[in-house]
Amino acid sequence: MSLYAGFDLGGTHLKFGLVDERGKISFKEKVSSPPEIEDLLVLIKNLWQDKLKKRESGVRAVGCGFPGIFDLKEKKTYQSPNYPSLDNYDIVQALSRFIDVPFWVDNDANMAAFGEFKAGSGQGVQSLVLLTIGTGVGSGIILDGKLWQGKCGYAGELGHIIVNPSGEKCMCGGQGCLETEVSAPKIVKNYRALKKKEINISAEDIFRRAKKGDEEARQAFAQASYYLGIGLATTLTLLNPEKILLGGGVMSAEEYLLPGSLEEAKRRAYQASFECCSIEKAGLGNDAGLIGAALWAGEQMKADHSLL
Ligand SMILES: [Zn+2]
Repeated sequence: MSLYAGFDLGGTHLKFGLVDERGKISFKEKVSSPPEIEDLLVLIKNLWQDKLKKRESGVRAVGCGFPGIFDLKEKKTYQSPNYPSLDNYDIVQALSRFIDVPFWVDNDANMAAFGEFKAGSGQGVQSLVLLTIGTGVGSGIILDGKLWQGKCGYAGELGHIIVNPSGEKCMCGGQGCLETEVSAPKIVKNYRALKKKEINISAEDIFRRAKKGDEEARQAFAQASYYLGIGLATTLTLLNPEKILLGGGVMSAEEYLLPGSLEEAKRRAYQASFECCSIEKAGLGNDAGLIGAALWAGEQMKADHSLL
């Protein structure tokens, strides 16, 4: 069976591994991701040469899911707030110096959506949207069985649709984006405002407090769920997808986030679209990006060969 390698770059970690054509991981690891691009390239080179290429004979292609929007024509990543040194860097040229099999680069959330579509909770559907809610909000869209990249590769940035016109300023230049209103930093901000003090606390801690009955902790998630519901309603009305999958660290607090957001989405969406969509937790967890990047590379390679 063909094997593909995947890299999934996050703000703090780089995940990498080998995946077969059915999406089964045969090897995976994660390491800290260095902030500077030159250090990252040395790391990827070493991992590719020492851990992936030698591990199994015949790794046929490599997929890389990187944060930021990836321009399909320029083959460069732009607007990568979680990995600023990647911005406008000629990453494809740099990787081609040492990756000696076909490889592809794309946005990390697009790769995660493709992973869920091929090997996770999205198997068997023709249209889905993945939203990953963590430090930011990533998303990818599958339409008619294909990753929807848009004309230049910038599609699927649902984290930056406006859900609160008077909301928080966003790193994308906008204000009140889905990302600024529902991600982990906003839940912390909500909680501090409700407690009326500057507490040093994480969203995970707030989730623990919510489980113990802390009313303000539950309220902090409820405030985010309201805006998530607005984002879901827009997505439903625009795309009428078969599934919307929700992933990312903040979804650990599903019980405090999902019911309120579904209620709000139902209230605001085009009703027929709400009724025929299944909104559920994503299935592959933290492996979605790695699996998706590897399978994407496999699919692109097959498509290229079919053109020969
Ligand atoms: Zn934004």
